[in-house]
Amino acid sequence: MREFRAPEVVIRRLAIYLRALGQCEEECESYISSKELGERAGVTPAQVRKDLAMFGEFGKQGVGYEVCNLKEELRRILKVNRVINTALVGVGELGMALARYNIRRAQRQDDYPFRLVAAFDVDPQKIGRKIERMVEIQPFARLTEVLRDLNVAIVILTVPASAAQEAVDRCVEGGVKGILNFAPAKVSVPNGVKLQNADVTLDLQQLAYYL
Ligand code: NAD
Repeated sequence: MREFRAPEVVIRRLAIYLRALGQCEEECESYISSKELGERAGVTPAQVRKDLAMFGEFGKQGVGYEVCNLKEELRRILKVNRVINTALVGVGELGMALARYNIRRAQRQDDYPFRLVAAFDVDPQKIGRKIERMVEIQPFARLTEVLRDLNVAIVILTVPASAAQEAVDRCVEGGVKGILNFAPAKVSVPNGVKLQNADVTLDLQQLAYYL
């Protein structure tokens, strides 16, 4: 049987609901209505109900959703209820900032799923150094082997655009299933590997249009 795949926009919203539920928990709220969850997530209550109904029945008529329970369900659906080994390729300005953020967040939040287990660069000056005294920067030449050995599922790619496709190909060889690409390059991945592009400059340009 083929696995059910929800539309990407829905998955995106589930991640936003999960964040909102985390905030509710911090505010010690036990129950939340679709209206309030919608307000926190910036969507209508009907949209919340429709999105969640794709995965099951989580709410109770007149009471709403139990925050803790819905949070666990969403973590299960998004598959972030476990540790996901993650690696960084390209430890420059951006890569270093993302690596530090990831390491510190994992240190202060027990259930943060993304664990940075390896980092790679081509620069001999950087190889052997440790990020936050935790993750040693390894040579790019060892990428495929180390990714396989450490069972890395996700790579954050912060290399120059010219090096992006080669790095992606080596990651795929290393068995990676998801790549978050920050390099401004059009790269391709085979079926079975998910590529997500992140681009602050494009977002800024889009924003500038509305000024
Ligand atoms: P940087 O030059 O500071 O860092 C790039 C690093 O990649 C360097 O350490 C370099 O040695 C390393 N590198 C080069 N080839 C490599 C390879 N084959 N394997 C491993 N490492 C390799 O650049 P930066 O400012 O950190 O930016 C990194 C990338 O992210 C660039 O492509 C940049 O355009 C992009 N970027 C994207 C956004 C965004 O919003 N998407 C924002 C800033 C930068």
